[in-house]
Formats: sequence, structure tokens, C-alpha cells
Amino acid sequence: MAAPRRPGLALKLGSLLTLAVVGVMLLTSVFTRAYDGSGDTAWVALALAVALAFAFAFAAALDWLVVRPLVRLARQVRRMEEADLAEPFVATGIDEPRELGEALERLRTRVLLEQEGQRRLNADLEQRVQERTLALAAAQRELSDAERLASVGRLAGGVAHEINNPAGVILGRASFLREILQESGGDPELVADLAVMERQAERIRQITGSLLRFARKTTGERRPVDLADVARDAIALARLEARARGVELTGTLAPAPVLADPHALEQVAYNLLRNAIHAARATVRVRTGPEGLVVEDDGAGVAPEHLPRVFEPFFTTKAPGEGTGLGLAVVHGIVAEHGGRITAENLPDAGARFVVSLPAP
Ligand code: ADP
Repeated sequence: MAAPRRPGLALKLGSLLTLAVVGVMLLTSVFTRAYDGSGDTAWVALALAVALAFAFAFAAALDWLVVRPLVRLARQVRRMEEADLAEPFVATGIDEPRELGEALERLRTRVLLEQEGQRRLNADLEQRVQERTLALAAAQRELSDAERLASVGRLAGGVAHEINNPAGVILGRASFLREILQESGGDPELVADLAVMERQAERIRQITGSLLRFARKTTGERRPVDLADVARDAIALARLEARARGVELTGTLAPAPVLADPHALEQVAYNLLRNAIHAARATVRVRTGPEGLVVEDDGAGVAPEHLPRVFEPFFTTKAPGEGTGLGLAVVHGIVAEHGGRITAENLPDAGARFVVSLPAP
């Protein structure tokens, strides 16, 4: 509801003006009578004095009521402009000039509030754009990683296939020859050489076998599997190695149903567990639940520059002869083939975390 309009300045100035007019009329009549000779010169002086007093009073009132407040307002507007709205309006004077000052202060507060809202909106928008850009970049990276791994997989699969058969032949012939030589009491040095050949050929076959597993599609069998069961089996399998290395293996296994090839999944869990046991100082934790399969250790973690490469075939930081760099490549191949996702990251304190998530049944 609008406030009732008060008489304000208009009434005050109007009254003063009326008095000034009355004064002028009085003055005129006194002058007229003085010229007629019907008046007194003392009256003329009095009338003049009264008229002058009214004129001064009118000018002073106009100055005090209107001009000064307006000048003050203009000064404040200038200061506010210079201070970028930071300087508040102090309403001075009375009536309309004061109301004008108060209205300007309200306007200033509102503009400030709106500016603040706009700033927050802009910051929010900027952050959202930044988040989306980062997510897009991560998705692009993942896509190109997946493409690179897929083409390396095809290449490695082809090469492994070509090497696997000759390696099998060498292995077979070497062990056949060694057995014959051993039975006929042949040169022990030759027998030892053949044993070395056998071991090396066996190693070639192991590597090409891993490569073939990396490149090969899994059986395609998909059935509901509980990741908790898979993790339990993998823990049982790895328990001996963990004990030998003095690493404690703990499992927090909540049901986590997925649709998968159970044998392939066992390989995934076992490879992750073995890597974690090799890296750990004292503990490896395995979890299953809504986020999937999580394997954490308290080792040194993965060097940041190695993180994007750990799933590449043949990427290893282990000493020659100790690692093939195929374990995680096989894991990645299996998970991708299931339409799942695997991530590797470092834990804030120490160690690495691998998380496998797979489609639910
Ligand atoms: P390999 O174990 O034969 O080296 P992988 O493909 O299993 O091959 O692993 C590749 C590399 O990833 C390892 O050499 C190691 O540098 C890194 N890695 C894997 N798991 C872990 C882990 N839990 N902690 C630290 N580094 C790891």
C-alpha cells in the first residue's frame, strides 16, 4: 500500500511564497500612498524592510530545503560512482529531498544485491563449464586409451599367435632331445643346455599365452556372478604368496552381483591381488560392494607419470625377468570386453587403488 502523500516541501515553499507576495502587495500599497502624499515615509521604510526580510527568508528556505540537499545528493552520487557503489547514501534534509536520498540508498542496496547474485551465478557457471571440460577431456583420454589398447591388443594377439606355435615346437623338441640324452647317458653339459632351452621356450609360451589371453575374446559366457565369491576365491589362491611375503590380506566382501564370465573375472581379481601383494609394505585390502571390486595396498603407489600407462601391454617397472607387463593389460582387456571399467589411482597416504566396475545383471 502506498504511503499517503504528505504536504512536504510544496506546502512550505507555497506558504513562504504567499507571505512574500503579501509583502510585495503591502510594499506596493505603501509606495502608492507615499507618492500620493497620503502615507508616511516611515511606513515605506518598514514595508521595504519587511519585503527584504521575506525575500531573504524565501531565498534561505529555498537554499536549505532544496538546493543544499540536492547538492549533497549530487556529491554523494559522484562519490558512489567513484567507489563503485560501495559508499552508502546518507539521506539528509527533509521531505522530498530526504525521500529521494532514502530511495537512492534502497536502489543502491538492491543493485549491490543483484550484482552479488550475478557474480555468484557467473562463478557457478564458470565452475560448471570447467567441470564439464575436465570430464570431457577425461572421457576423450579414456576413449583414446581404449582405442590404443585395442589396436595394440590386436597386434600383440597376431604376433603371439605366430610365436606360440614355433615356441611350442622348440619346447617339445628340446625336452624330447633332453630326455633321450639323459636316458642314453649323454653329455651332461648338453643336457643342461637343453634344459635352459626348455625353460626359455616355456617362458616364451607363458608370455605369448598371456598376450593371447589379452587379445582373445573371453568365452562370451555371461551369467550372474557375485563379485564377493570371485574375490573370496582369488584371496584363497593368493593367500600363500601373501604369507610368504609377510603381507596381511583382508577382505570386506559385500554382495555385488554382476553379469560376467566367472573364470575371466577370477583372472582379473587374481592379477590385481598379486600386483598389490608385490607392491604392499604390510597390507592388502579387498572390498566388494556397489562400487564393484576394489583392491588397495599400502605400497609406494604408481608413479604419476606411469599411471596412464599401467594398462599397456609390456609396460612394467619390474626388473627384467620378474615382470612381463601383461597382467594389467589382460585385466583391462577382460574388463573392457565385459563392458566394464577399471581405474587406477594412488591413495592419499600411500599405496595404490584399483577399482573394477561391471554391468549389473
Ligand atoms: P607386471 O606386474 O608384470 O609388471 P602388470 O601389467 O601387472 O605387469 O603391471 C604393470 C606395472 O604397473 C607394474 O610393473 C607396476 O609398475 C605397476 N603396478 C601394478 N600394480 C601396482 C600396484 N598395486 N602398486 C604399484 N604399482 C603397480
